[in-house]
Parts: sequence; C-alpha cells; structure tokens
Amino acid sequence: MAEDNLMEKIVSLCKRRGFIYPGSDIYGGLAGTFDYGPLGVELKNNVKQLWWKTFVQERDDMCGVDAAILMNPRVWEASGHVGGFSDPLVECKKCKRRFRADHVGETCPECGGTFGEVRQFNMMFKTQIGATEDASSVSYLRPETAGGIFVNFKNVIDSFHPKLPFGMAQIGKAFRNEIAPRDFVFRSREFEQMEIEYFVKPTEWEGAFEEWRLAMHAWNDAIGLRSGGVYELEVADGDRAHYSKRTIDFEFDFPFGRKELYGLAYRGDFDLSAHASGSGQELSMIVDDQTGEKVVPHVIEPSFGVDRTVLAILASAYTEDELGGETRTYLKFNKTMAPIKAAVFPLLKNKPELVAKAREVYLMLKKQVPQIMWDDNGNIGKRYRRQDEIGTPLCITIDFDTLGEKPELKDTVTLRNRDTGEQERVAIPDLLSRI
Ligand code: ATP
Repeated sequence: MAEDNLMEKIVSLCKRRGFIYPGSDIYGGLAGTFDYGPLGVELKNNVKQLWWKTFVQERDDMCGVDAAILMNPRVWEASGHVGGFSDPLVECKKCKRRFRADHVGETCPECGGTFGEVRQFNMMFKTQIGATEDASSVSYLRPETAGGIFVNFKNVIDSFHPKLPFGMAQIGKAFRNEIAPRDFVFRSREFEQMEIEYFVKPTEWEGAFEEWRLAMHAWNDAIGLRSGGVYELEVADGDRAHYSKRTIDFEFDFPFGRKELYGLAYRGDFDLSAHASGSGQELSMIVDDQTGEKVVPHVIEPSFGVDRTVLAILASAYTEDELGGETRTYLKFNKTMAPIKAAVFPLLKNKPELVAKAREVYLMLKKQVPQIMWDDNGNIGKRYRRQDEIGTPLCITIDFDTLGEKPELKDTVTLRNRDTGEQERVAIPDLLSRI
C-alpha cells in the first residue's frame, strides 16, 4: 500500500466512521482545527485516562493539576515564549503564500516564485482580556501546558510538602499559530498535550532521565504502537536548547515519514529560575532538614501530544486483509484503546423475543463496561464489517439457540473475534470476563 494512499484511507475512515472530522466542517472548515466525533472522543479519552492512571494515580511521587489556559502574560515573558517562541517564515513574492522557511527550498512549491526575507513569526495566539483593548489587556492562549505546572509548583509544595524527587502532570489544550498546519492532526493549531515536570536534585538528573526514557517506551507498548515503530533521536549539542544537557525526540514512522511523536528533555533549573526571577517568588525546596539547605530543583520533562498519539495508534492499527474470501479493512486496536469493547446484536431485528434477550445482555454488560454498542442494522455480515472497521474486538450475537431452541445451548451466545473471525459459543455469565 502506497504510504500516501494509507494516509488518505485513514483520514477518510476517520470521517466516515465518526472518529475525526475537519473543524467547522459545514462552514468549509478552519485550517489547522479538527473535531473529534463519537468514536474519536472515546479513543482520545482512553489515551488520556490510561496516561493519567499510569503516570499519576499509580505512582506515589506524582500529582496532577489542571491550570487555566489563560495565564498572566508575564508567565510567557519569563519562559521566553514572548521573545522567542517563533518559527522562521518566508513569503512568496509572486503568490504571497507563506511557508516555514525550514520546510521549503529556494523557490515557492506552489508557483515557483522567489521568497522575500526570512522573518521570525511568533506562534502564540494573542487575545484581549476584559473590555479595554490596550497593551495591559493582552494575554495569550497557552502554547504548551508546562507553564501551568511551573506556576503551581509553589502552591503544591506549600500544600503537600513533597520530597524530591517528585513530579507534577497536566493534560490540556495548547494552541500554536502554526505557519503550515499539515498531516491531519499531526500538526494542528489547537491540540492537546500531556506533560510532566519531574523535579530532582541536580546531581540525580541522569538516573531520572533514564527511568523516564524507559517509562516512555513502556507507554508506547501499552497503547499498542506498531512494534519497532518508535525511534529515539538524540538531539545533538547544537540543536538543543542552551539550558538542556540532554534531549531525546521519540519519533514514529507516520505514513508521511518519520516524525516527532514525543519529547524528553532535561531542562536543568531553567524554568524554575526564570519564574522565580519573573515573579519575585522563591521557587526552591529544602533538601536537608538538619541544615536547612535549599536547592532549585532540576527538571526532567516528558512531553506527549495527545493528537499525535491518536494518529500513531490509528496508523498502527490500520489493517487490510482477506477474511472468508473477501477483503476487509479493520482497526487492530488493543483492548484498552478500542473505543468500543464489544457490540451486541440480535440475530434478527424483527423477532421481538431475540431483541428482548439481546437488550437484556446489552444492558447487563453496559452497566459494567460502558463502551458497549448495540447494532441491529443490516445482516450479520455487514454488522461484523462495520465493527471491524471501528476496531471493536468482540461481537456478541443472540440467536435462537440462546433462547433454547437447542436446549443444551440455552443462555449461550456467539462470540466472534475481530482479528481471526473465529466464532465460539460462550455462556452469558462468562461474557464479562472475556471483554
Ligand atoms: P515540532 O518540532 O513537530 O513542531 P515541537 O518540538 O515544537 O514539535 P514540543 O514543543 O516539544 O513540540 O511539544 C511537545 C509535544 O506536543 C510534541 O512532541 C507533539 O506531540 C505535540 N505537538 C507540538 N506541536 C503540535 C501541533 N502543532 N499539533 C499537534 N501536536 C503538537
């Protein structure tokens, strides 16, 4: 399958089956924005819930925050975003189209025209707070979630008195006025991040960095990314931020090429020191109760994009094969990521006794596992095909044997496996343990 073609197929499946739609679709869209549909939101929630459980709830050295998207603009001055969060921009002299200078060659890819001077384009979205429109009312939509963590460092220390090492995590929206949004949800203007700031004693950063590197690989396996599909790129000396002694980009083989999925950076004390001097507050911790010695903790920052995760999961799961002599498309999600865990069908929708029994099974399961779908449209073959396409691991069919036509099969159902197409007879009380 040509890789370009694969991306087209994924985008089209996402729209057709209700995973991801273009933003503001009925108005012709809005560049760089996307809306998640009913199945997309389930998939995205599965990602966020597993991340929160893995990196916050199951650990005793982590805590979460949910900070405001609008922040005091001084936050972004101190962090360097007002002065430096920019991409190089060029404009074609002929057609006036704009491009990221590092994404194009010497001439305009659209019309062959020549470019003007390269200038720096700040990617933060500016907005006004309140009714007066002057310089003092300027604010920004946050370009990353990390800022909201650093400004709450002191609050969390004061409320919980943690000891080093400990980390803070946040999941939320971030906004970047990307010059050239592209590749579906890979590079959009409004997206979600899951970020961690892990605070350590300055002498202990290397061990913590290694632990997070391994934890990120374990995460990639847990969400079902194509095995061997994630590569580490050690960012070279000259390409790292000046304060970082080590940065790794986790790259994934997307259908449009090998690109950054996540980042892991050692940031020294850059952020806490910058916010301490910007805010005038002390952002340090006592490391020795006896002597009262204080340090500004150093930071390891694992940073995950939610939307790039969703795209990597979709690209890993997309499969075409032949089953029963027919070609089919299916999403091979693992059980944790599948938006729908199982679908329940009555064999025929015009037989009230089958429908009643199927409803009973459906409601019993749904009480325990909310992500269960009811489907009684078309014939069984069509229903299987539809569920395969949205990645449902199991289909449950209630038929006349369930009702006792063959007495020995009473209260059993057909359980069909998405990947193999195999069917088996399972007793209703055993279903929950199989989902
Ligand atoms: P890139 O080099 O691709 O622009 P970046 O290095 O600027 O990315 P970071 O600032 O490290 O990205 O942001 C952390 C994570 O947020 C990225 O690894 C990615 O998963 C996600 N991310 C960043 N920009 C976007 C975007 N425009 N759309 C979707 N996700 C994004």
